[in-house]
Amino acid sequence: MVSVTLDQVTKRFDRVVAVDRVSLEISEGEFFFLLGPSGCGKTTLLRMIAGFYEPEGGRVLFGDRDVTNVPPNERNTGMVFQNYALWPHMSVQKNVEYGLSMRSVNREEMDKRVYRALEMVQMTPYADRSPNQLSGGQQQRVALARALVIEPDVILMDEPLSNLDARLRLEMRQQILDLQREIGKTMIYVTHDQKEALAMSHRMAVMNSGHVVQVGTARELYQNPQSQFLADFIGEINLIAGTVSAVGEETSVDTKLGVINGRPARDGLQKGDKVFCAVRPEGLSFVEGEPPPGDNTVTGDVRNVVYLGEVEQYVIDLADETPLRVVEYDPVNPKAKRGDTVRLQFSPSKVVILSDEGDVRAETV
Ligand code: ATP
Repeated sequence: MVSVTLDQVTKRFDRVVAVDRVSLEISEGEFFFLLGPSGCGKTTLLRMIAGFYEPEGGRVLFGDRDVTNVPPNERNTGMVFQNYALWPHMSVQKNVEYGLSMRSVNREEMDKRVYRALEMVQMTPYADRSPNQLSGGQQQRVALARALVIEPDVILMDEPLSNLDARLRLEMRQQILDLQREIGKTMIYVTHDQKEALAMSHRMAVMNSGHVVQVGTARELYQNPQSQFLADFIGEINLIAGTVSAVGEETSVDTKLGVINGRPARDGLQKGDKVFCAVRPEGLSFVEGEPPPGDNTVTGDVRNVVYLGEVEQYVIDLADETPLRVVEYDPVNPKAKRGDTVRLQFSPSKVVILSDEGDVRAETV
């Protein structure tokens, strides 16, 4: 089990900077996610950790050991790919033992380790089958066993569940989580699926255009986004534009809808700064009677209502034509219907004030 440190790692492909000066500290035994939209550089970063790509700049460390120029087979990492990458002409047993046969492990030891790895992923009964006699989920479990069998210091996973159907994906999520808890190894997992990252990670780095935008636990990132990109990428968000009118315990923002109070995403906001007030759909509720003193309120017309069983979703057109998304949980009756004029309340604690400076990029985290 080792920690992984990335220090100002950069990778270019011709003119594309796929990964731009990324620094990260991943602890021993941590289940760490690289999350971001397609093309943001997460696979390239993972491949540099594995050793498949050499960075143009920066360093990769496993514990205290600088592995930047160490070939992949000398890093002791196990890799799991989206497409499983199993040998079709070999049995499950042979696929799993392949990595060991390259390492001159004796027969007895090999059998013991293959059995143990297959047992960890509940695939021992399938040892003699060929991969094309297995379901997608079973193939991915074999791929996992193949990564585990070499007893790696770090396990790297690149979108391992993307080829599975929705139900199986949920099942495999749980199995990978259980496995990570059981073996306690450092695991780095690439995905573009924010739900996967929210549900499984200890911490994650959210990437955009080759940069790390923000690092934290699911809760930290969801509740304290520091940029518009992040607020929008993880969960749903409403953004109301305005200008800071007062800074203090609460920050006040003048908007076309009136003053909105909230808490700034980071220190240093000043009067006159252009900002966005960010509020999640579940942070808003319909005013019934008088709103609590100090709460923000806005008024608008209901454009759309969708009943989804456990939630009811509303889209409300505000006076400045910003569409506001509102979610009510456990809805018994609708709170409003299309065309109604409604008033909504939301506590300042639910409002994060974000600088209007495009994307906030954290170079060192
Ligand atoms: P996805 O989720 O779609 O796999 P990603 O976040 O993993 O995306 P990367 O595959 O790391 O993104 O790619 C980052 C950028 O580098 C993209 O612009 C991509 O086109 C470019 N890129 C990646 N690999 C190569 C390569 N071998 N040659 C040239 N450009 C590449």
